[in-house]
Amino acid sequence: MIGEAMPTGTMSGTPQVLLAHHLKQLKLPTVLREYDKVARECARDGTDHPRYLLRLIELELIDRERRTIERRIRAARFPAVKSFDTFDFAAIPGLNKMLVLELARCEYVLRRENVIALGNSGTGKTHVALALGLAACQKGLTVAFTTAAALVSQLMEARDERRLLKLQRDLAAVKLLIIDELGYVPLSPTGAELLFEVFSQRYERGSTIVTSNLPFEDWIQMLGSERLTGALLDRLTHHVSILAMNGDSYRLKQSAGRRRSAKAEQNQTTEIIDPDTGEITTT
Ligand code: ADP
Ligand code: MG
Repeated sequence: MIGEAMPTGTMSGTPQVLLAHHLKQLKLPTVLREYDKVARECARDGTDHPRYLLRLIELELIDRERRTIERRIRAARFPAVKSFDTFDFAAIPGLNKMLVLELARCEYVLRRENVIALGNSGTGKTHVALALGLAACQKGLTVAFTTAAALVSQLMEARDERRLLKLQRDLAAVKLLIIDELGYVPLSPTGAELLFEVFSQRYERGSTIVTSNLPFEDWIQMLGSERLTGALLDRLTHHVSILAMNGDSYRLKQSAGRRRSAKAEQNQTTEIIDPDTGEITTT
């Protein structure tokens, strides 16, 4: 029993300081935080040493997994953390829910396949891309989120500063790259060329999710070249799941709903009770 063999609280001064130091060096913050409390619990319950140690190590493992996921989520630079828990599939009946839930298992990332979400504004393309990104982080995969405009300006800047190769290598290394809002801004010839290189370098090496408000036939205009668009689509769509996300804007529907309920509230009568007289007036 721990309580008898190693009464807690008798490790005065130096051993505790040394233990804290060693645990920090070994990167076991949860063991450091919990060892005293768990020791007291184990002493109380008559738990033996191996079980005490096991409990501590298990706590460390659980915490470590959580910390790793949090680090991956931070590294992904999501503009917001969204999941499928808050996604209302009923709001977009045209979307293949089975396919989306299958994608949420992230096996396409292991197969290095791509996803393209196409549809008008406000239909949840970014939400789905974020939720797929989060799912990948939780499955232990590295993710990077960016918009097409931000990515292109980053690439141009890197080229001007002669660090394009490094950026290209970093972009090729993530397991899942999410490029949001392709098509919102037309690209310069250099921008389109640099973007094409990103797709080209990721082809069959990593997964890419692209969201766009433009149907494929309008991509030539966005990229400014038929040859480049053909080559890009060829790579992007070789192994791809396409999410058709045309429908009513969720944002518009929500604000219309809010307006309706505000109006309904206005039309409702309210009873006010005068605290002094107890008189009821209806407004
Ligand atoms: P898009 O990228 O297609 O323009 P967003 O994903 O940005 O659309 O969606 C707009 C807003 O509406 C976001 O706040 C998003 O979370 C929300 N939203 C869109 N579709 C849904 C849905 N089906 N269920 C829940 N929230 C949704
Ligand atoms: Mg969007």
